[in-house]
Amino acid sequence: TPGGLKSREEKIFVTVRVRPLSKKECALNDQVAWDCVDEKTISSKHINNDRSTAPYTFDRVFDPTCITPLVYEEGAKDVTLSVLTGINATIFAYGQTSSGKTFTMRGITEHAVQDIYEHIRNTPEREFILKFSALEIYNETIMDLLNRESGPLRVLDDPEKGMVIEKLVEEVAKDSQHLRNLIGVCEAQRQVGETSLNDTSSRSHQIIRLTVESSLRECSGCVKSYIATLNLVDLAGSERASQTNVDGVRLKEGSHINRSLLTLTTVIRKLSDGKRVGHIPYRDSKLTRILQTSLGGNSRTAIICTLSPAQSHMEQSRNTLMFAARAK
Ligand code: ADP
Ligand code: MG
Repeated sequence: TPGGLKSREEKIFVTVRVRPLSKKECALNDQVAWDCVDEKTISSKHINNDRSTAPYTFDRVFDPTCITPLVYEEGAKDVTLSVLTGINATIFAYGQTSSGKTFTMRGITEHAVQDIYEHIRNTPEREFILKFSALEIYNETIMDLLNRESGPLRVLDDPEKGMVIEKLVEEVAKDSQHLRNLIGVCEAQRQVGETSLNDTSSRSHQIIRLTVESSLRECSGCVKSYIATLNLVDLAGSERASQTNVDGVRLKEGSHINRSLLTLTTVIRKLSDGKRVGHIPYRDSKLTRILQTSLGGNSRTAIICTLSPAQSHMEQSRNTLMFAARAK
């Protein structure tokens, strides 16, 4: 949609990506439990007299043969490019651990960077500044992925700027190669985190933030300037938002549950209900506080729900699809 001025009246763009069966799942003779019926519909197969599920429809369903460039093109591109015209944007990967969130977000990030720089090259009349930052939320603690030594970061309310993450390093990207290097630094940081703490990637959220500022070269200081942030979010495993674990065993609520993820699901549900009135609990978690201005108000959101095709993951895949259905 051009301009995207009435962005919040647009719905959240919800897609589902089913990954291929892994080698291990094949070796264990796990079955494919889902049928991608067409480009918008997915339904469960009926294996072992499993209870049937009505087909689900979404803005797009990517079957296991769909490659990441297509997922970007049809699931993330429009939302990504809206930051070039001053509209905040967020792209989430939501799904259980091992469903393909990180795989998908790495690809989306790569394509987003490429696309943004292509747009910049094609828009010589404007001058662009790109700023990069990246953070991880683990146990409601925010860490800077460009500077882990800085320790837990605080979120502050600034009277002028609104939400501010204190001491978060923001690097100006000189060009696309520099930006890719910065992303590489963050990837390395995440791996450091993963070896020092058990199971981090299933519990933590990673956010890459790209702030794009631009103004017309011909009229410095005049009105036609834009600023917006693109958030690329690799969420904690969605099993952290439900009361059953990956094997379908019912769990007691407690340390298993991830507050940021649970609050995000509530916020998204409320936003997609489209109620202008009513309290949206952004302030209940770090993740939703950080993303507030990119979720409500003048913003665009895409959610890519990643799904394991395996029969053994059926229970969590159902949970993911129910979340996805509520979000659209
Ligand atoms: P998550 O981040 O959700 O825990 P990962 O992205 O780490 O899951 O994916 C789990 C494994 O599956 C990885 O080895 C990854 O390379 C592979 N994988 C995920 N999605 C795909 C895909 N669409 N095509 C091929 N391999 C995939
Ligand atoms: Mg991951």
